[in-house]
Amino acid sequence: MPPRATHRLRVVIVPGRVGSISAHEAFEGLDAIALCGQAEDVRVHDGDREFFLGNEQGGFHVRCPVTGEPAARPFAHALQTWREGGPREMDCPCGAHHDLAAMDLQPPAAFSARWIELCEPAELEPRHGTLLDERWPGWTSLVVRG
Ligand SMILES: [Zn+2]
Repeated sequence: MPPRATHRLRVVIVPGRVGSISAHEAFEGLDAIALCGQAEDVRVHDGDREFFLGNEQGGFHVRCPVTGEPAARPFAHALQTWREGGPREMDCPCGAHHDLAAMDLQPPAAFSARWIELCEPAELEPRHGTLLDERWPGWTSLVVRG
């Protein structure tokens, strides 16, 4: 089995809201393959199940969106519970209940069932941004390693 590339830079583009058009539709005409060089470096995912997309390795910070208090540990626990079928929410150190997606995550992360993943891409050009603004309003791109 060939070694898996584990230190490649990946850019994951996610829609801004639930109910957006599919990643395959959003991807059409984006010419993402040209950004990466080869088709195998582009992955387009449309699923029914949400995934947590982010870098969970060292340097991942979670803060309460209201008070700014660190909340990495309760977030990690709640994330695990959510992955096991629990609600996508947590009891925050501030005393409130937050949607996990509402937490202040640094570097940015997202919950999504659809995304476009680009491996070692060239910089997105303004036309890519314009297309994505039309198709996935509020889209974000996350940088993930590994
Ligand atoms: Zn809080």
